[in-house]
Amino acid sequence: MTYIIAEPCIDIKDRSCVDVCPVDCIHEYERILIIDPEECIDCFAPTEQLITEHGLRTFAELEDHSCRVLTDDGFKPAVVKRFRRRPLVKIELAPAFEERDRYGGTRLTTRNISRFRRTVWATPTHGWVLADGQKTNALGVGQFVPAVRSMPKRDGETYRLGVLHGLVFGDGSWSWYAETTDEHLHHVPMFGDRVARYRALFERVSFERSRSLHPGYSGTGVLRSCVNLKKLLPETADAEYIAGFVDGWVAADGDPVKAGSWRLRSTDHQALAWLERAAPLAGYVAIGSGEESTMATNGGRRNRSMRWLYLATRESYWRVMSVEAQEADDVDTFCAVVPGKHEFALAGGITSRNCGACEPECPVEAIFPEDALPDKWNAFVEINYAFPDPEKINSLTDAYATEHNVQNEPLE
Ligand code: SF4
Ligand code: SF4
Repeated sequence: MTYIIAEPCIDIKDRSCVDVCPVDCIHEYERILIIDPEECIDCFAPTEQLITEHGLRTFAELEDHSCRVLTDDGFKPAVVKRFRRRPLVKIELAPAFEERDRYGGTRLTTRNISRFRRTVWATPTHGWVLADGQKTNALGVGQFVPAVRSMPKRDGETYRLGVLHGLVFGDGSWSWYAETTDEHLHHVPMFGDRVARYRALFERVSFERSRSLHPGYSGTGVLRSCVNLKKLLPETADAEYIAGFVDGWVAADGDPVKAGSWRLRSTDHQALAWLERAAPLAGYVAIGSGEESTMATNGGRRNRSMRWLYLATRESYWRVMSVEAQEADDVDTFCAVVPGKHEFALAGGITSRNCGACEPECPVEAIFPEDALPDKWNAFVEINYAFPDPEKINSLTDAYATEHNVQNEPLE
């Protein structure tokens, strides 16, 4: 999508917009300025991921699809579009958090939890939001980008069912299937403060003798369901159920780690990969992942390696560690058009903008994203797309100005 310059610019042409354009794509004609639709707006590699209402998706998967993308104001409607071929830069980011500094204030610091780096491939002048609220079209090493999180509801029956499912999936066991009643029976051991928090969710809690073997053990939660919850991921569930599922799984199986975040370990690689895609819907930011190199355990050798995922539940940021130009061929680029908002979140909650730098600079409000152009000025789509033909642009602008008797007052 490009931006369009409309009627209020005719005969004004004060050029305030020209200086802020990062790609020098605003050009002057006899009575108006015009934006080169091919140059305007910067974008991402097709494989880059963004957070949608259905979890993480790549731009290529969503080409020409309407979807809802995560912004700092919840999910907003968007359309993903393919743009021209461009060179890309490789941006490496590390998770960062607010910490107290020695003078009693706070500062953003990276934590060496996993040496995790998130890589983003974007055009060199893509627009970004920074942690201090400033906007930039050229990310630099040492800058911090905020991570946005979704805030799903956590108080309904859907959430409660999700928690039960997550507890069973993370730490429960399946005991039998009753064909007559079409029911699966699950057991979840209850330890420590989990008892007070989750006991009421189970149909019953059975206390058994193993308390002496495991001092913290308080009983077993028992649950029946029409599917085997130990094996099933809630692939198509809504955000509230997924929030419950992730909370339940984390409560059952997560290790709290230093930076206000949780680590989940599993040999079920498919489940962890799904969790990384779905966790943003539950308000978690995936700040690290990896795989253990050893297959040996105290009880023998594992069949599959152990993988892990760090999920942050606190305010998170990404620190720019490097920005490298690439020598590879230009590639088709993609971006999400988010009407009215012009911002959205990539994987990791990384906040990105569509450009729009020129829009607030115009003193007469002549510049609009193409999809937000007032209907009365639709003629300017044709005028802008006549770029770079001066004859056509000038004659179309003249014809419009005459027909509509345009008499814009010069700026003081
Ligand atoms: S939206 Fe950005 S790239 Fe497009 S014309 Fe305006 S400043 Fe230039
Ligand atoms: S800032 Fe507005 S009025 Fe000035 S040249 Fe640009 S589009 Fe025209």
